[in-house]
Amino acid sequence: MKRALCWIRRDLRLTDNRALCEATESADAVAVVFIFDPEILDPLDRDDTRVNFIHQSLREIDEKLKQQGSQLLVRHGNPVELIPQLARELMADEVFTAHDLEPGALKRDRSVREALLAQGTQFKTCKDHLVRQKTEVLSQSGTPFKVYTPYSKAWKAALIPAKDFAEYTPDLSKLLPVSELTSLLRPWSIEEIGFVAKQPWLAAGETAAKARLATFLPKIDVYGEMRDFPAAEATSYLSVDLRFGTISNRELFRQAYAKTSKGAEKWLNELIWREFYADVLANFPHVVEGTFNSSYQDLEWPGTDEMFEIWKAGQTGYPIVDAAMRCFAETGWMHNRLRMIVASFLTKDLLVDYRKGEAYFASKLLDFELASNNGGWQWAASVGVDAQPYFRIFNPYLQSVKFDAEGTFIREWVPELRGISGDIHKPSPEVRAKAGYVPEVVDHMVQKELAIKLLSKQSES
Ligand SMILES: Cc1cc2nc3c(=O)[nH]c(=O)nc-3n(C[C@H](O)[C@H](O)[C@H](O)COP(=O)(O)OP(=O)(O)OC[C@H]3O[C@@H](n4cnc5c(N)ncnc54)[C@H](O)[C@@H]3O)c2cc1C
Repeated sequence: MKRALCWIRRDLRLTDNRALCEATESADAVAVVFIFDPEILDPLDRDDTRVNFIHQSLREIDEKLKQQGSQLLVRHGNPVELIPQLARELMADEVFTAHDLEPGALKRDRSVREALLAQGTQFKTCKDHLVRQKTEVLSQSGTPFKVYTPYSKAWKAALIPAKDFAEYTPDLSKLLPVSELTSLLRPWSIEEIGFVAKQPWLAAGETAAKARLATFLPKIDVYGEMRDFPAAEATSYLSVDLRFGTISNRELFRQAYAKTSKGAEKWLNELIWREFYADVLANFPHVVEGTFNSSYQDLEWPGTDEMFEIWKAGQTGYPIVDAAMRCFAETGWMHNRLRMIVASFLTKDLLVDYRKGEAYFASKLLDFELASNNGGWQWAASVGVDAQPYFRIFNPYLQSVKFDAEGTFIREWVPELRGISGDIHKPSPEVRAKAGYVPEVVDHMVQKELAIKLLSKQSES
């Protein structure tokens, strides 16, 4: 009887799970495992909501496996040791898992593969997290794209929906019965892995992800017109599910392709942006440390730590920036338009190195993806692929007027300004003083000129 172990990581679901499907196709009996890796967990705050999100998503998987007469194996430790050990204990011939192309994951998986092969266990990996990856979308000259629009055209041109969006349904009747797992089961409460319980801002698990998709689909046709308004709740809120795989990426593409509206096309293009940035990271891994555009590599950003702290605290005196940063500190979430505004403000108004903002986002974002976060920050700082031109600088006041016209979002997150009358986007000094709201920390028009000078000098060098 052939046995397999399926190691879930960023595919925390049972529906349309490719690695699990391939495991159940290949073997007669399959066990499912998740490993909490201290190398990833140790640097995090003890109440990290992403760990809670993962933990709660695993609880749901465990419940579903129990309904099938099996159970989820959970371990806390180094996967390079634990996966081969579990494979031995289970007498598994094969270990299945889905690709993870982040640099740390690639290194880990190379070591896991070596250790498994050394003991005669096969390590089989499959694409799941992305529809296209790494070298699957290349320019006519065979090189990776550096600009989104031709990338997305090539991505779409090469598409074979039946193959690329195929659904992978695991045969759950092949799961190892709990009687065979009993000696391998360990307790795994959130405290046992060293964290404290904290409810994530978005509900965790596959069922919640499906509900988010169901809520979004009736709005997809107006996505294009509404997506930029933070108070409108017009986007899908599925980025965290894509991050942890509580929903299948292919399912989202299937849904986007099933519709012909402009809104659906726009949403599809956003899903492709995610694939684009993943490819940029895979093909140009130097972006993790430095700028994609080498002329900015040695740029010295003059912004001080004090400015960085003011930005983080949401005390810049620019209401839309402060509202976004306070929302982020409390929820770990920020709307895309606001991410662009605050990233532009940190780099072009406060002249602080984008890497500091990138690291702060990485430490808190519920949907943190190395590739998209890095791509978003380098775009905003004008140092990355297909970046915002350095001379086109967001005016936070005009952005606020355009995208939060009524001040709904500002009022929600900056309580000092809730009751004021007059221009909420740029309150007068008198109104600020009376409301107990801080003055503007810098003058946007002055800083804009400084940013252009800084970035133009470098782009010519
Ligand atoms: C500075 C900065 C940092 C960012 N960091 C991240 C991050 O760590 N993780 C992350 O998933 N997204 C990141 N984004 C992209 C974007 O802000 C989020 O994907 C989006 O806000 C998630 O909301 P949603 O799921 O409702 O998106 P929707 O508008 O419903 O879009 C659907 C999906 O498309 C993808 N997508 C949308 N916009 C982008 C984009 N600009 N780049 C890449 N993918 C996109 C996401 O997977 C998203 O879930 C960042 C953007 C910026 C400007």
